[in-house]
Amino acid sequence: MKEMINFTVGPVQANEDVLKVGGEQVPYFRTEEFSNVMFENERLVKKFAKASDDSKVVFLTGSGTAAMEASIINTLNNNDKALIVNGGSFGQRFIDLCQIYENPYDEIKLSVGETLTKEILDKYNALDYTTFIVNIHETSTGVHYDLDLIRDFCNKNDLFLIVDAISSFLADPIDMQNSKIDIMITSSQKSLACPPGISILVLSSRAVNKVYNANVKGLYFNLKIALENAKRGQTPFTPAVGILRQINTRLKSIDENGGVESEIKNVESLALYFRNNIKDLPFKLVTSSPSNAITALMTLTASANDIFLELKDHYNIWVCPNGGELKDKVFRVGHIGHLTKNDFDKLIDAFKDMQKRGLI
Ligand SMILES: *Cc1c(COP(=O)(O)O)cnc(C)c1O
Repeated sequence: MKEMINFTVGPVQANEDVLKVGGEQVPYFRTEEFSNVMFENERLVKKFAKASDDSKVVFLTGSGTAAMEASIINTLNNNDKALIVNGGSFGQRFIDLCQIYENPYDEIKLSVGETLTKEILDKYNALDYTTFIVNIHETSTGVHYDLDLIRDFCNKNDLFLIVDAISSFLADPIDMQNSKIDIMITSSQKSLACPPGISILVLSSRAVNKVYNANVKGLYFNLKIALENAKRGQTPFTPAVGILRQINTRLKSIDENGGVESEIKNVESLALYFRNNIKDLPFKLVTSSPSNAITALMTLTASANDIFLELKDHYNIWVCPNGGELKDKVFRVGHIGHLTKNDFDKLIDAFKDMQKRGLI
């Protein structure tokens, strides 16, 4: 495969240590040794998510959407009513799930790049909602919503809070206890910078209770069975053992190198470096409240999808294209994964070269 620099939002570039583990034989997993890997993964994910001691972590084999679906079927039923922030294709996915499972819901529909404000939320006070669902970073447009605002709203209305932080965990600050988050979701191929295949749910004690009282029709996504197995550091079914070992390597390396704060700082500094150095290029930021994880750019002079293709075919660089209505208007540059300022210099040089060639 050609050597590419990968600025997408996932799968992203892994570091050398994680790659090395990926090259090893996959061990048998019904062992004390593998249970200890799982316990350590749980401990470090809880630490980085600032989850309470009595929180529990489930590692599901599946992409991020598996955890989204599991959160819906294990904590919502027809007597609930969810309020879902829909700011793009990932918000829409929660809407689709509630429709499929016939869970009542309303949506807060936001336009491209728009953020959530107190004024918007105030319209939904004192209604019959039980649950609030948000993709804290709507990865399709790069918007990062204000967790304090959401916490205050959920507190006032006593709402169960599900936060999809799939692309935000380890890129933006998150504190499950301070924000009173009941379920935080992430997955292996975003800021965790491992291959795709593991999605993660961190459950507050309130969420664990809900799971134990749920009547789930289904086996693979039944979190009660997963939680019972997790007590001994195991999963009910064969997990993506190799990826869980890579996650272990990655989590330990974050822990040994300044912890989650320093990891987030690094992503933030790459994001700011990139944003500061593209001011003369013919792009406009899609949102004024971006996540550190990506910069979404509106193109002013050329098709966004053509830019994606040209970077891929001519410069060996991957940025992230958008789909649907935004295909020709927006592309995204990720700041997560194993990247350096030097990599961003190469991307910016490629843009300047494209400008010289009259392509943008
Ligand atoms: C990547 C992502 C997902 C999950 O997508 P998968 O393709 O199922 O891994 C969900 N929500 C957000 C906000 C994401 O960024």
